[in-house]
Amino acid sequence: MIDFALGEEHRAVKEAVRQFVTKEVMPLEDQVLLNERNGRPALEPGQLKDLQAKARKYGYWGINTPEEYGGMAAGAVMSAIIAGEAGRTFVPFRFGGSADNILYAGTEAQKQEYLIPTIEGDRRSCFAITEPGAGSDARSIRSRAVRDGDDWVINGEKVFITNGNEADFVMVFAVTDPERGADGGVTCFLVDRAMGWESTPIPTMGEWGPAALSFQDVRVPNDHILGEEGKGFELAMQWIGNGRFMIPAGAIGAAERMLEMAIEHANNRHSMGQAIANYQFIQGHIADSAVELEAARWLTLHAAWQVENKMDARHTSSIAKLYGTNMANRVVDRVLQIHGGMGYTKELPLERWYRELRLLRIFEGTDEIQRRTIARNLLKGNVKVGASLA
Ligand SMILES: Cc1cc2nc3c(=O)[nH]c(=O)nc-3n(C[C@H](O)[C@H](O)[C@H](O)COP(=O)(O)OP(=O)(O)OC[C@H]3O[C@@H](n4cnc5c(N)ncnc54)[C@H](O)[C@@H]3O)c2cc1C
Repeated sequence: MIDFALGEEHRAVKEAVRQFVTKEVMPLEDQVLLNERNGRPALEPGQLKDLQAKARKYGYWGINTPEEYGGMAAGAVMSAIIAGEAGRTFVPFRFGGSADNILYAGTEAQKQEYLIPTIEGDRRSCFAITEPGAGSDARSIRSRAVRDGDDWVINGEKVFITNGNEADFVMVFAVTDPERGADGGVTCFLVDRAMGWESTPIPTMGEWGPAALSFQDVRVPNDHILGEEGKGFELAMQWIGNGRFMIPAGAIGAAERMLEMAIEHANNRHSMGQAIANYQFIQGHIADSAVELEAARWLTLHAAWQVENKMDARHTSSIAKLYGTNMANRVVDRVLQIHGGMGYTKELPLERWYRELRLLRIFEGTDEIQRRTIARNLLKGNVKVGASLA
């Protein structure tokens, strides 16, 4: 049986989240644009927490968090749908009650110290694997952790770490066995900021900048290893791989909203005696965007469905990420074009979306790395052409 309809619960949640985002989050858009234009944080202190608390009252808390930790335990498909609805606004809102999936690999004591306070919003984490000399080639990281009695001493530099400026602890990946490297010699450590690592903001074209992290003889007790010694690289790949479909999922929401803006503008803006909607070039922009948006939606839901059904979703997730993020970049460009000079101003959010969406083609595996994965799977016969539907 093949069924393209969303389930009743999927539709109800989608509708409810849309209402929440429209009623509670979108009204903040003007304020966010103004704050950012004046170099202030997008949201006032505490505003995100208030929004999250409001969402919790509606029942939206810990979307992916297991029920035993007070979450919704929504499956991957539901998570993709919710991410799409949240992606309809550029307000830096996220539902509360979540923690990075690898924190569930912690011991009971680590769960109490890191996982649960993160879910509750009392602590903030960041995930640090990228280094100045190792981005796409994450297997080549050089940050080093050396055993000293009951401790490890970490030295190294990390770059482009999201939340690295705000986090009070880091999940950092360092080489513990240089002979083995990524094949059994990389370990993940939970390291409090108070243990001595430092962060420096990195200005970027997007509004939320990442950080460079510096570790100089940072001493970490052995029981701060997350997972097993030497198994860090697998953990890192698990973290990134399991959530890859969430990136195009959010981009779909942004593209939908922008396409709606384009339709409204095309119908209302007149040029040379008629609405620009009557011009075929404009219609082409709208039609191409709609076609690509639908294609990205089904690719993403398919990848999420595979994750939910515990299938090997790596190939499909790479396809969804590559296509979905490029789709959103093409859509924002066309929609900006349809808005003419106004599209280029800071009056409208399009230039902001333009800058933000550009990142999606770079982090969590660049376009080229997704292409490499897809091509290698096919060329080596790991995946047959069309087999994702088998
Ligand atoms: C805003 C932002 C937030 C980020 N957040 C995090 C985070 O929280 N934690 C974290 O650890 N990292 C994070 N990153 C890092 C991100 O994952 C890397 O930037 C990304 O993996 C690319 O690595 P790189 O920048 O070193 O580019 P490089 O790997 O140097 O790539 C340069 C170019 O070469 C291409 N290339 C590289 N290798 C190949 C190949 N084998 N085949 C074909 N082409 C290739 C790339 O696709 C790219 O076009 C973030 C980055 C940014 C910009």
